[in-house]
Amino acid sequence: MKAHDAMYIGGQWRPAVGQDTIAVVNPANEQVIGHVPAGTAEDVDAAVRAARDAFAGWAATPPAERGAKIAALRDALVARKDEIAATVTAELGAPPQLAAAVHAGLPIVIAGSYAELAATYSFEEKTGNSTVLMEPVGVVGAITPWNYPLHQVVAKVAPALAAGCTVVLKPAEDTPLTAQLFAEAVHEAGLPAGVFNLVTGLGPVAGQALAEHDDVDLVSFTGSTAVGKQIGALAGSAVKRVALELGGKSANVILPSADLATAVETGLANALSNAGQRCSALTRVLVHKDQYDEAVAVAAKAIAAYTPGDRIGPMVNSKQLERVRGYIEKGVEEGARIVAGGPEAPLDTGYYVSPTVFADVTPQMTIAQEEIFGPVIAFLKYEDEEDALAIANGTVYGLAGAVWGEPEQAVAFARRMEAGQVDINGGRFNPLAPFGGYKQSGIGRELGAHGLAEYLQTKSLQF
Ligand code: NAD
Repeated sequence: MKAHDAMYIGGQWRPAVGQDTIAVVNPANEQVIGHVPAGTAEDVDAAVRAARDAFAGWAATPPAERGAKIAALRDALVARKDEIAATVTAELGAPPQLAAAVHAGLPIVIAGSYAELAATYSFEEKTGNSTVLMEPVGVVGAITPWNYPLHQVVAKVAPALAAGCTVVLKPAEDTPLTAQLFAEAVHEAGLPAGVFNLVTGLGPVAGQALAEHDDVDLVSFTGSTAVGKQIGALAGSAVKRVALELGGKSANVILPSADLATAVETGLANALSNAGQRCSALTRVLVHKDQYDEAVAVAAKAIAAYTPGDRIGPMVNSKQLERVRGYIEKGVEEGARIVAGGPEAPLDTGYYVSPTVFADVTPQMTIAQEEIFGPVIAFLKYEDEEDALAIANGTVYGLAGAVWGEPEQAVAFARRMEAGQVDINGGRFNPLAPFGGYKQSGIGRELGAHGLAEYLQTKSLQF
């Protein structure tokens, strides 16, 4: 992996306008592994102009041809699978197995799904005396976080390209090298110049310049709710389309009819995957009062297998490490009880946190309300199903959730949850199912046909 000292704009690597750079740090050993340019508003402007110039031609390209180019992009990612995994391990600290299977593997599946959808999606429909055309929205500004460096990029770029939009991407400052690899793959796949452009840089500089650029028609943002609110406000005042994938505080609800050990252990694996740096992590475990002590004991035992530095990677940077430790300390201060882990550093080097289980957590405690984005799990006790539902729905978020129990009961409960996706009895992730949030977890959906529709606008012709 070699860091490009340039931006990918208009089909070529071009020097940045300014001299500033961003250091990329390996969070597992705290070593600098490369530098990328810190883009400015001028770089963003050049990229948006390239995307605008390419838009008419790409929008007019037949969808099946767009699909063929996305398939070539998928193949280019397949050819670079090992390099992608190694790069995600280097800049995010993800354990190699997770990096290969999820960080490199999942985006390939998603790119493949949009290669197919571009070719099969119905971009025209009839209703009464009208023909409704589904047309691309235009130039997309995509702003992505670091937690799944390639997946977050592909989940925006692939549907945007399938729809006929052109894109300017501003990836997270912690993981720009994976985004540069993606740009290399775009180039190899032979996408027309300007259809995809990359500007690396700081959020409040390059990200903000992209979000407020007059010639960007749609801003698609994944990241924190705080920044999402600013971007939503900017888009609102400019009357431009916006898609927001924000934070979460998802509940794992274990009904009395569930297989308790499986529900606790599977939920734990979900919450600790990617070191808990997941917006949909099931970090609140809701257990009936009669099964509570047993559930906590199962978790305390199972968590021992998740050793930092082996199965659990580090936090992405020192700021995130301090933030997560701060939440653990806050949990103790507010009266929750640590049954595993704690705030002490488990290793001398690297931004590691011990996987931590809290018991005696009440619904209003900070660790039950705020997104921690680390390997910290809170066990809450409920009296009955109504109480469980009130606790599950009792945050500002609504991204995801899980329910365990007799299938009909579990589905009935899931229907009443305020969340964009709910796994029943360990239901597997489906890359074609819409992903996105209720309430402050966001606006819009990614993945599958719903994800494609985000990048389309309708025009009706009356006959
Ligand atoms: P963040 O909001 O700080 O940054 C996300 C992106 O926005 C980065 O590229 C950053 O450079 C950019 N940015 C920052 N300030 C900006 C500004 N003022 N204007 C424009 N762009 C700006 O979030 P993060 O720390 O990178 O990621 C963690 C957060 O992302 C968590 O809250 C997590 O829940 C959320 N997230 C949500 C989803 C989802 O699908 N809902 C997925 C992953 C992460």
